[in-house]
Amino acid sequence: MEKKYWKKEEVELFKKRLLSLRGKITGNVNSLQNEAFKSSGTDSSGDLSNMPLHLADVGTDNFERDLNIELIENAEEGLRNIDIALEKLDNKTYGQCESCDKMIIKTRLLALPFVKNCINCQRDEETEQMSDEEI
Ligand SMILES: [Zn+2]
Repeated sequence: MEKKYWKKEEVELFKKRLLSLRGKITGNVNSLQNEAFKSSGTDSSGDLSNMPLHLADVGTDNFERDLNIELIENAEEGLRNIDIALEKLDNKTYGQCESCDKMIIKTRLLALPFVKNCINCQRDEETEQMSDEEI
């Protein structure tokens, strides 16, 4: 059976979303690190190559700082998943559910471009976890 794959424009769209998400995560990580260096009194190296593009968006109040810390805790896993997804785009296996091999619907992929399971499998997994807890 011939497998249906994404159109060229769709592949480009997914790639763009993955790359911008990647940039967002690495930008956040760097800006938080810069901020941490600043507050501990360490002089910055003056290296501008890793600076986020939107410095004005970097929050200065505590609330935003806490949010950034939360993002960083998941950043490593997020980046790994994004890299895996980019690899799959190149291998033409992108969007395939890892549990049932069905294609994940486009709207789900656009919302969560690095997602690994289709909504049905995700739901099954959650139900399973729930019943485990009940037992
Ligand atoms: Zn599935």
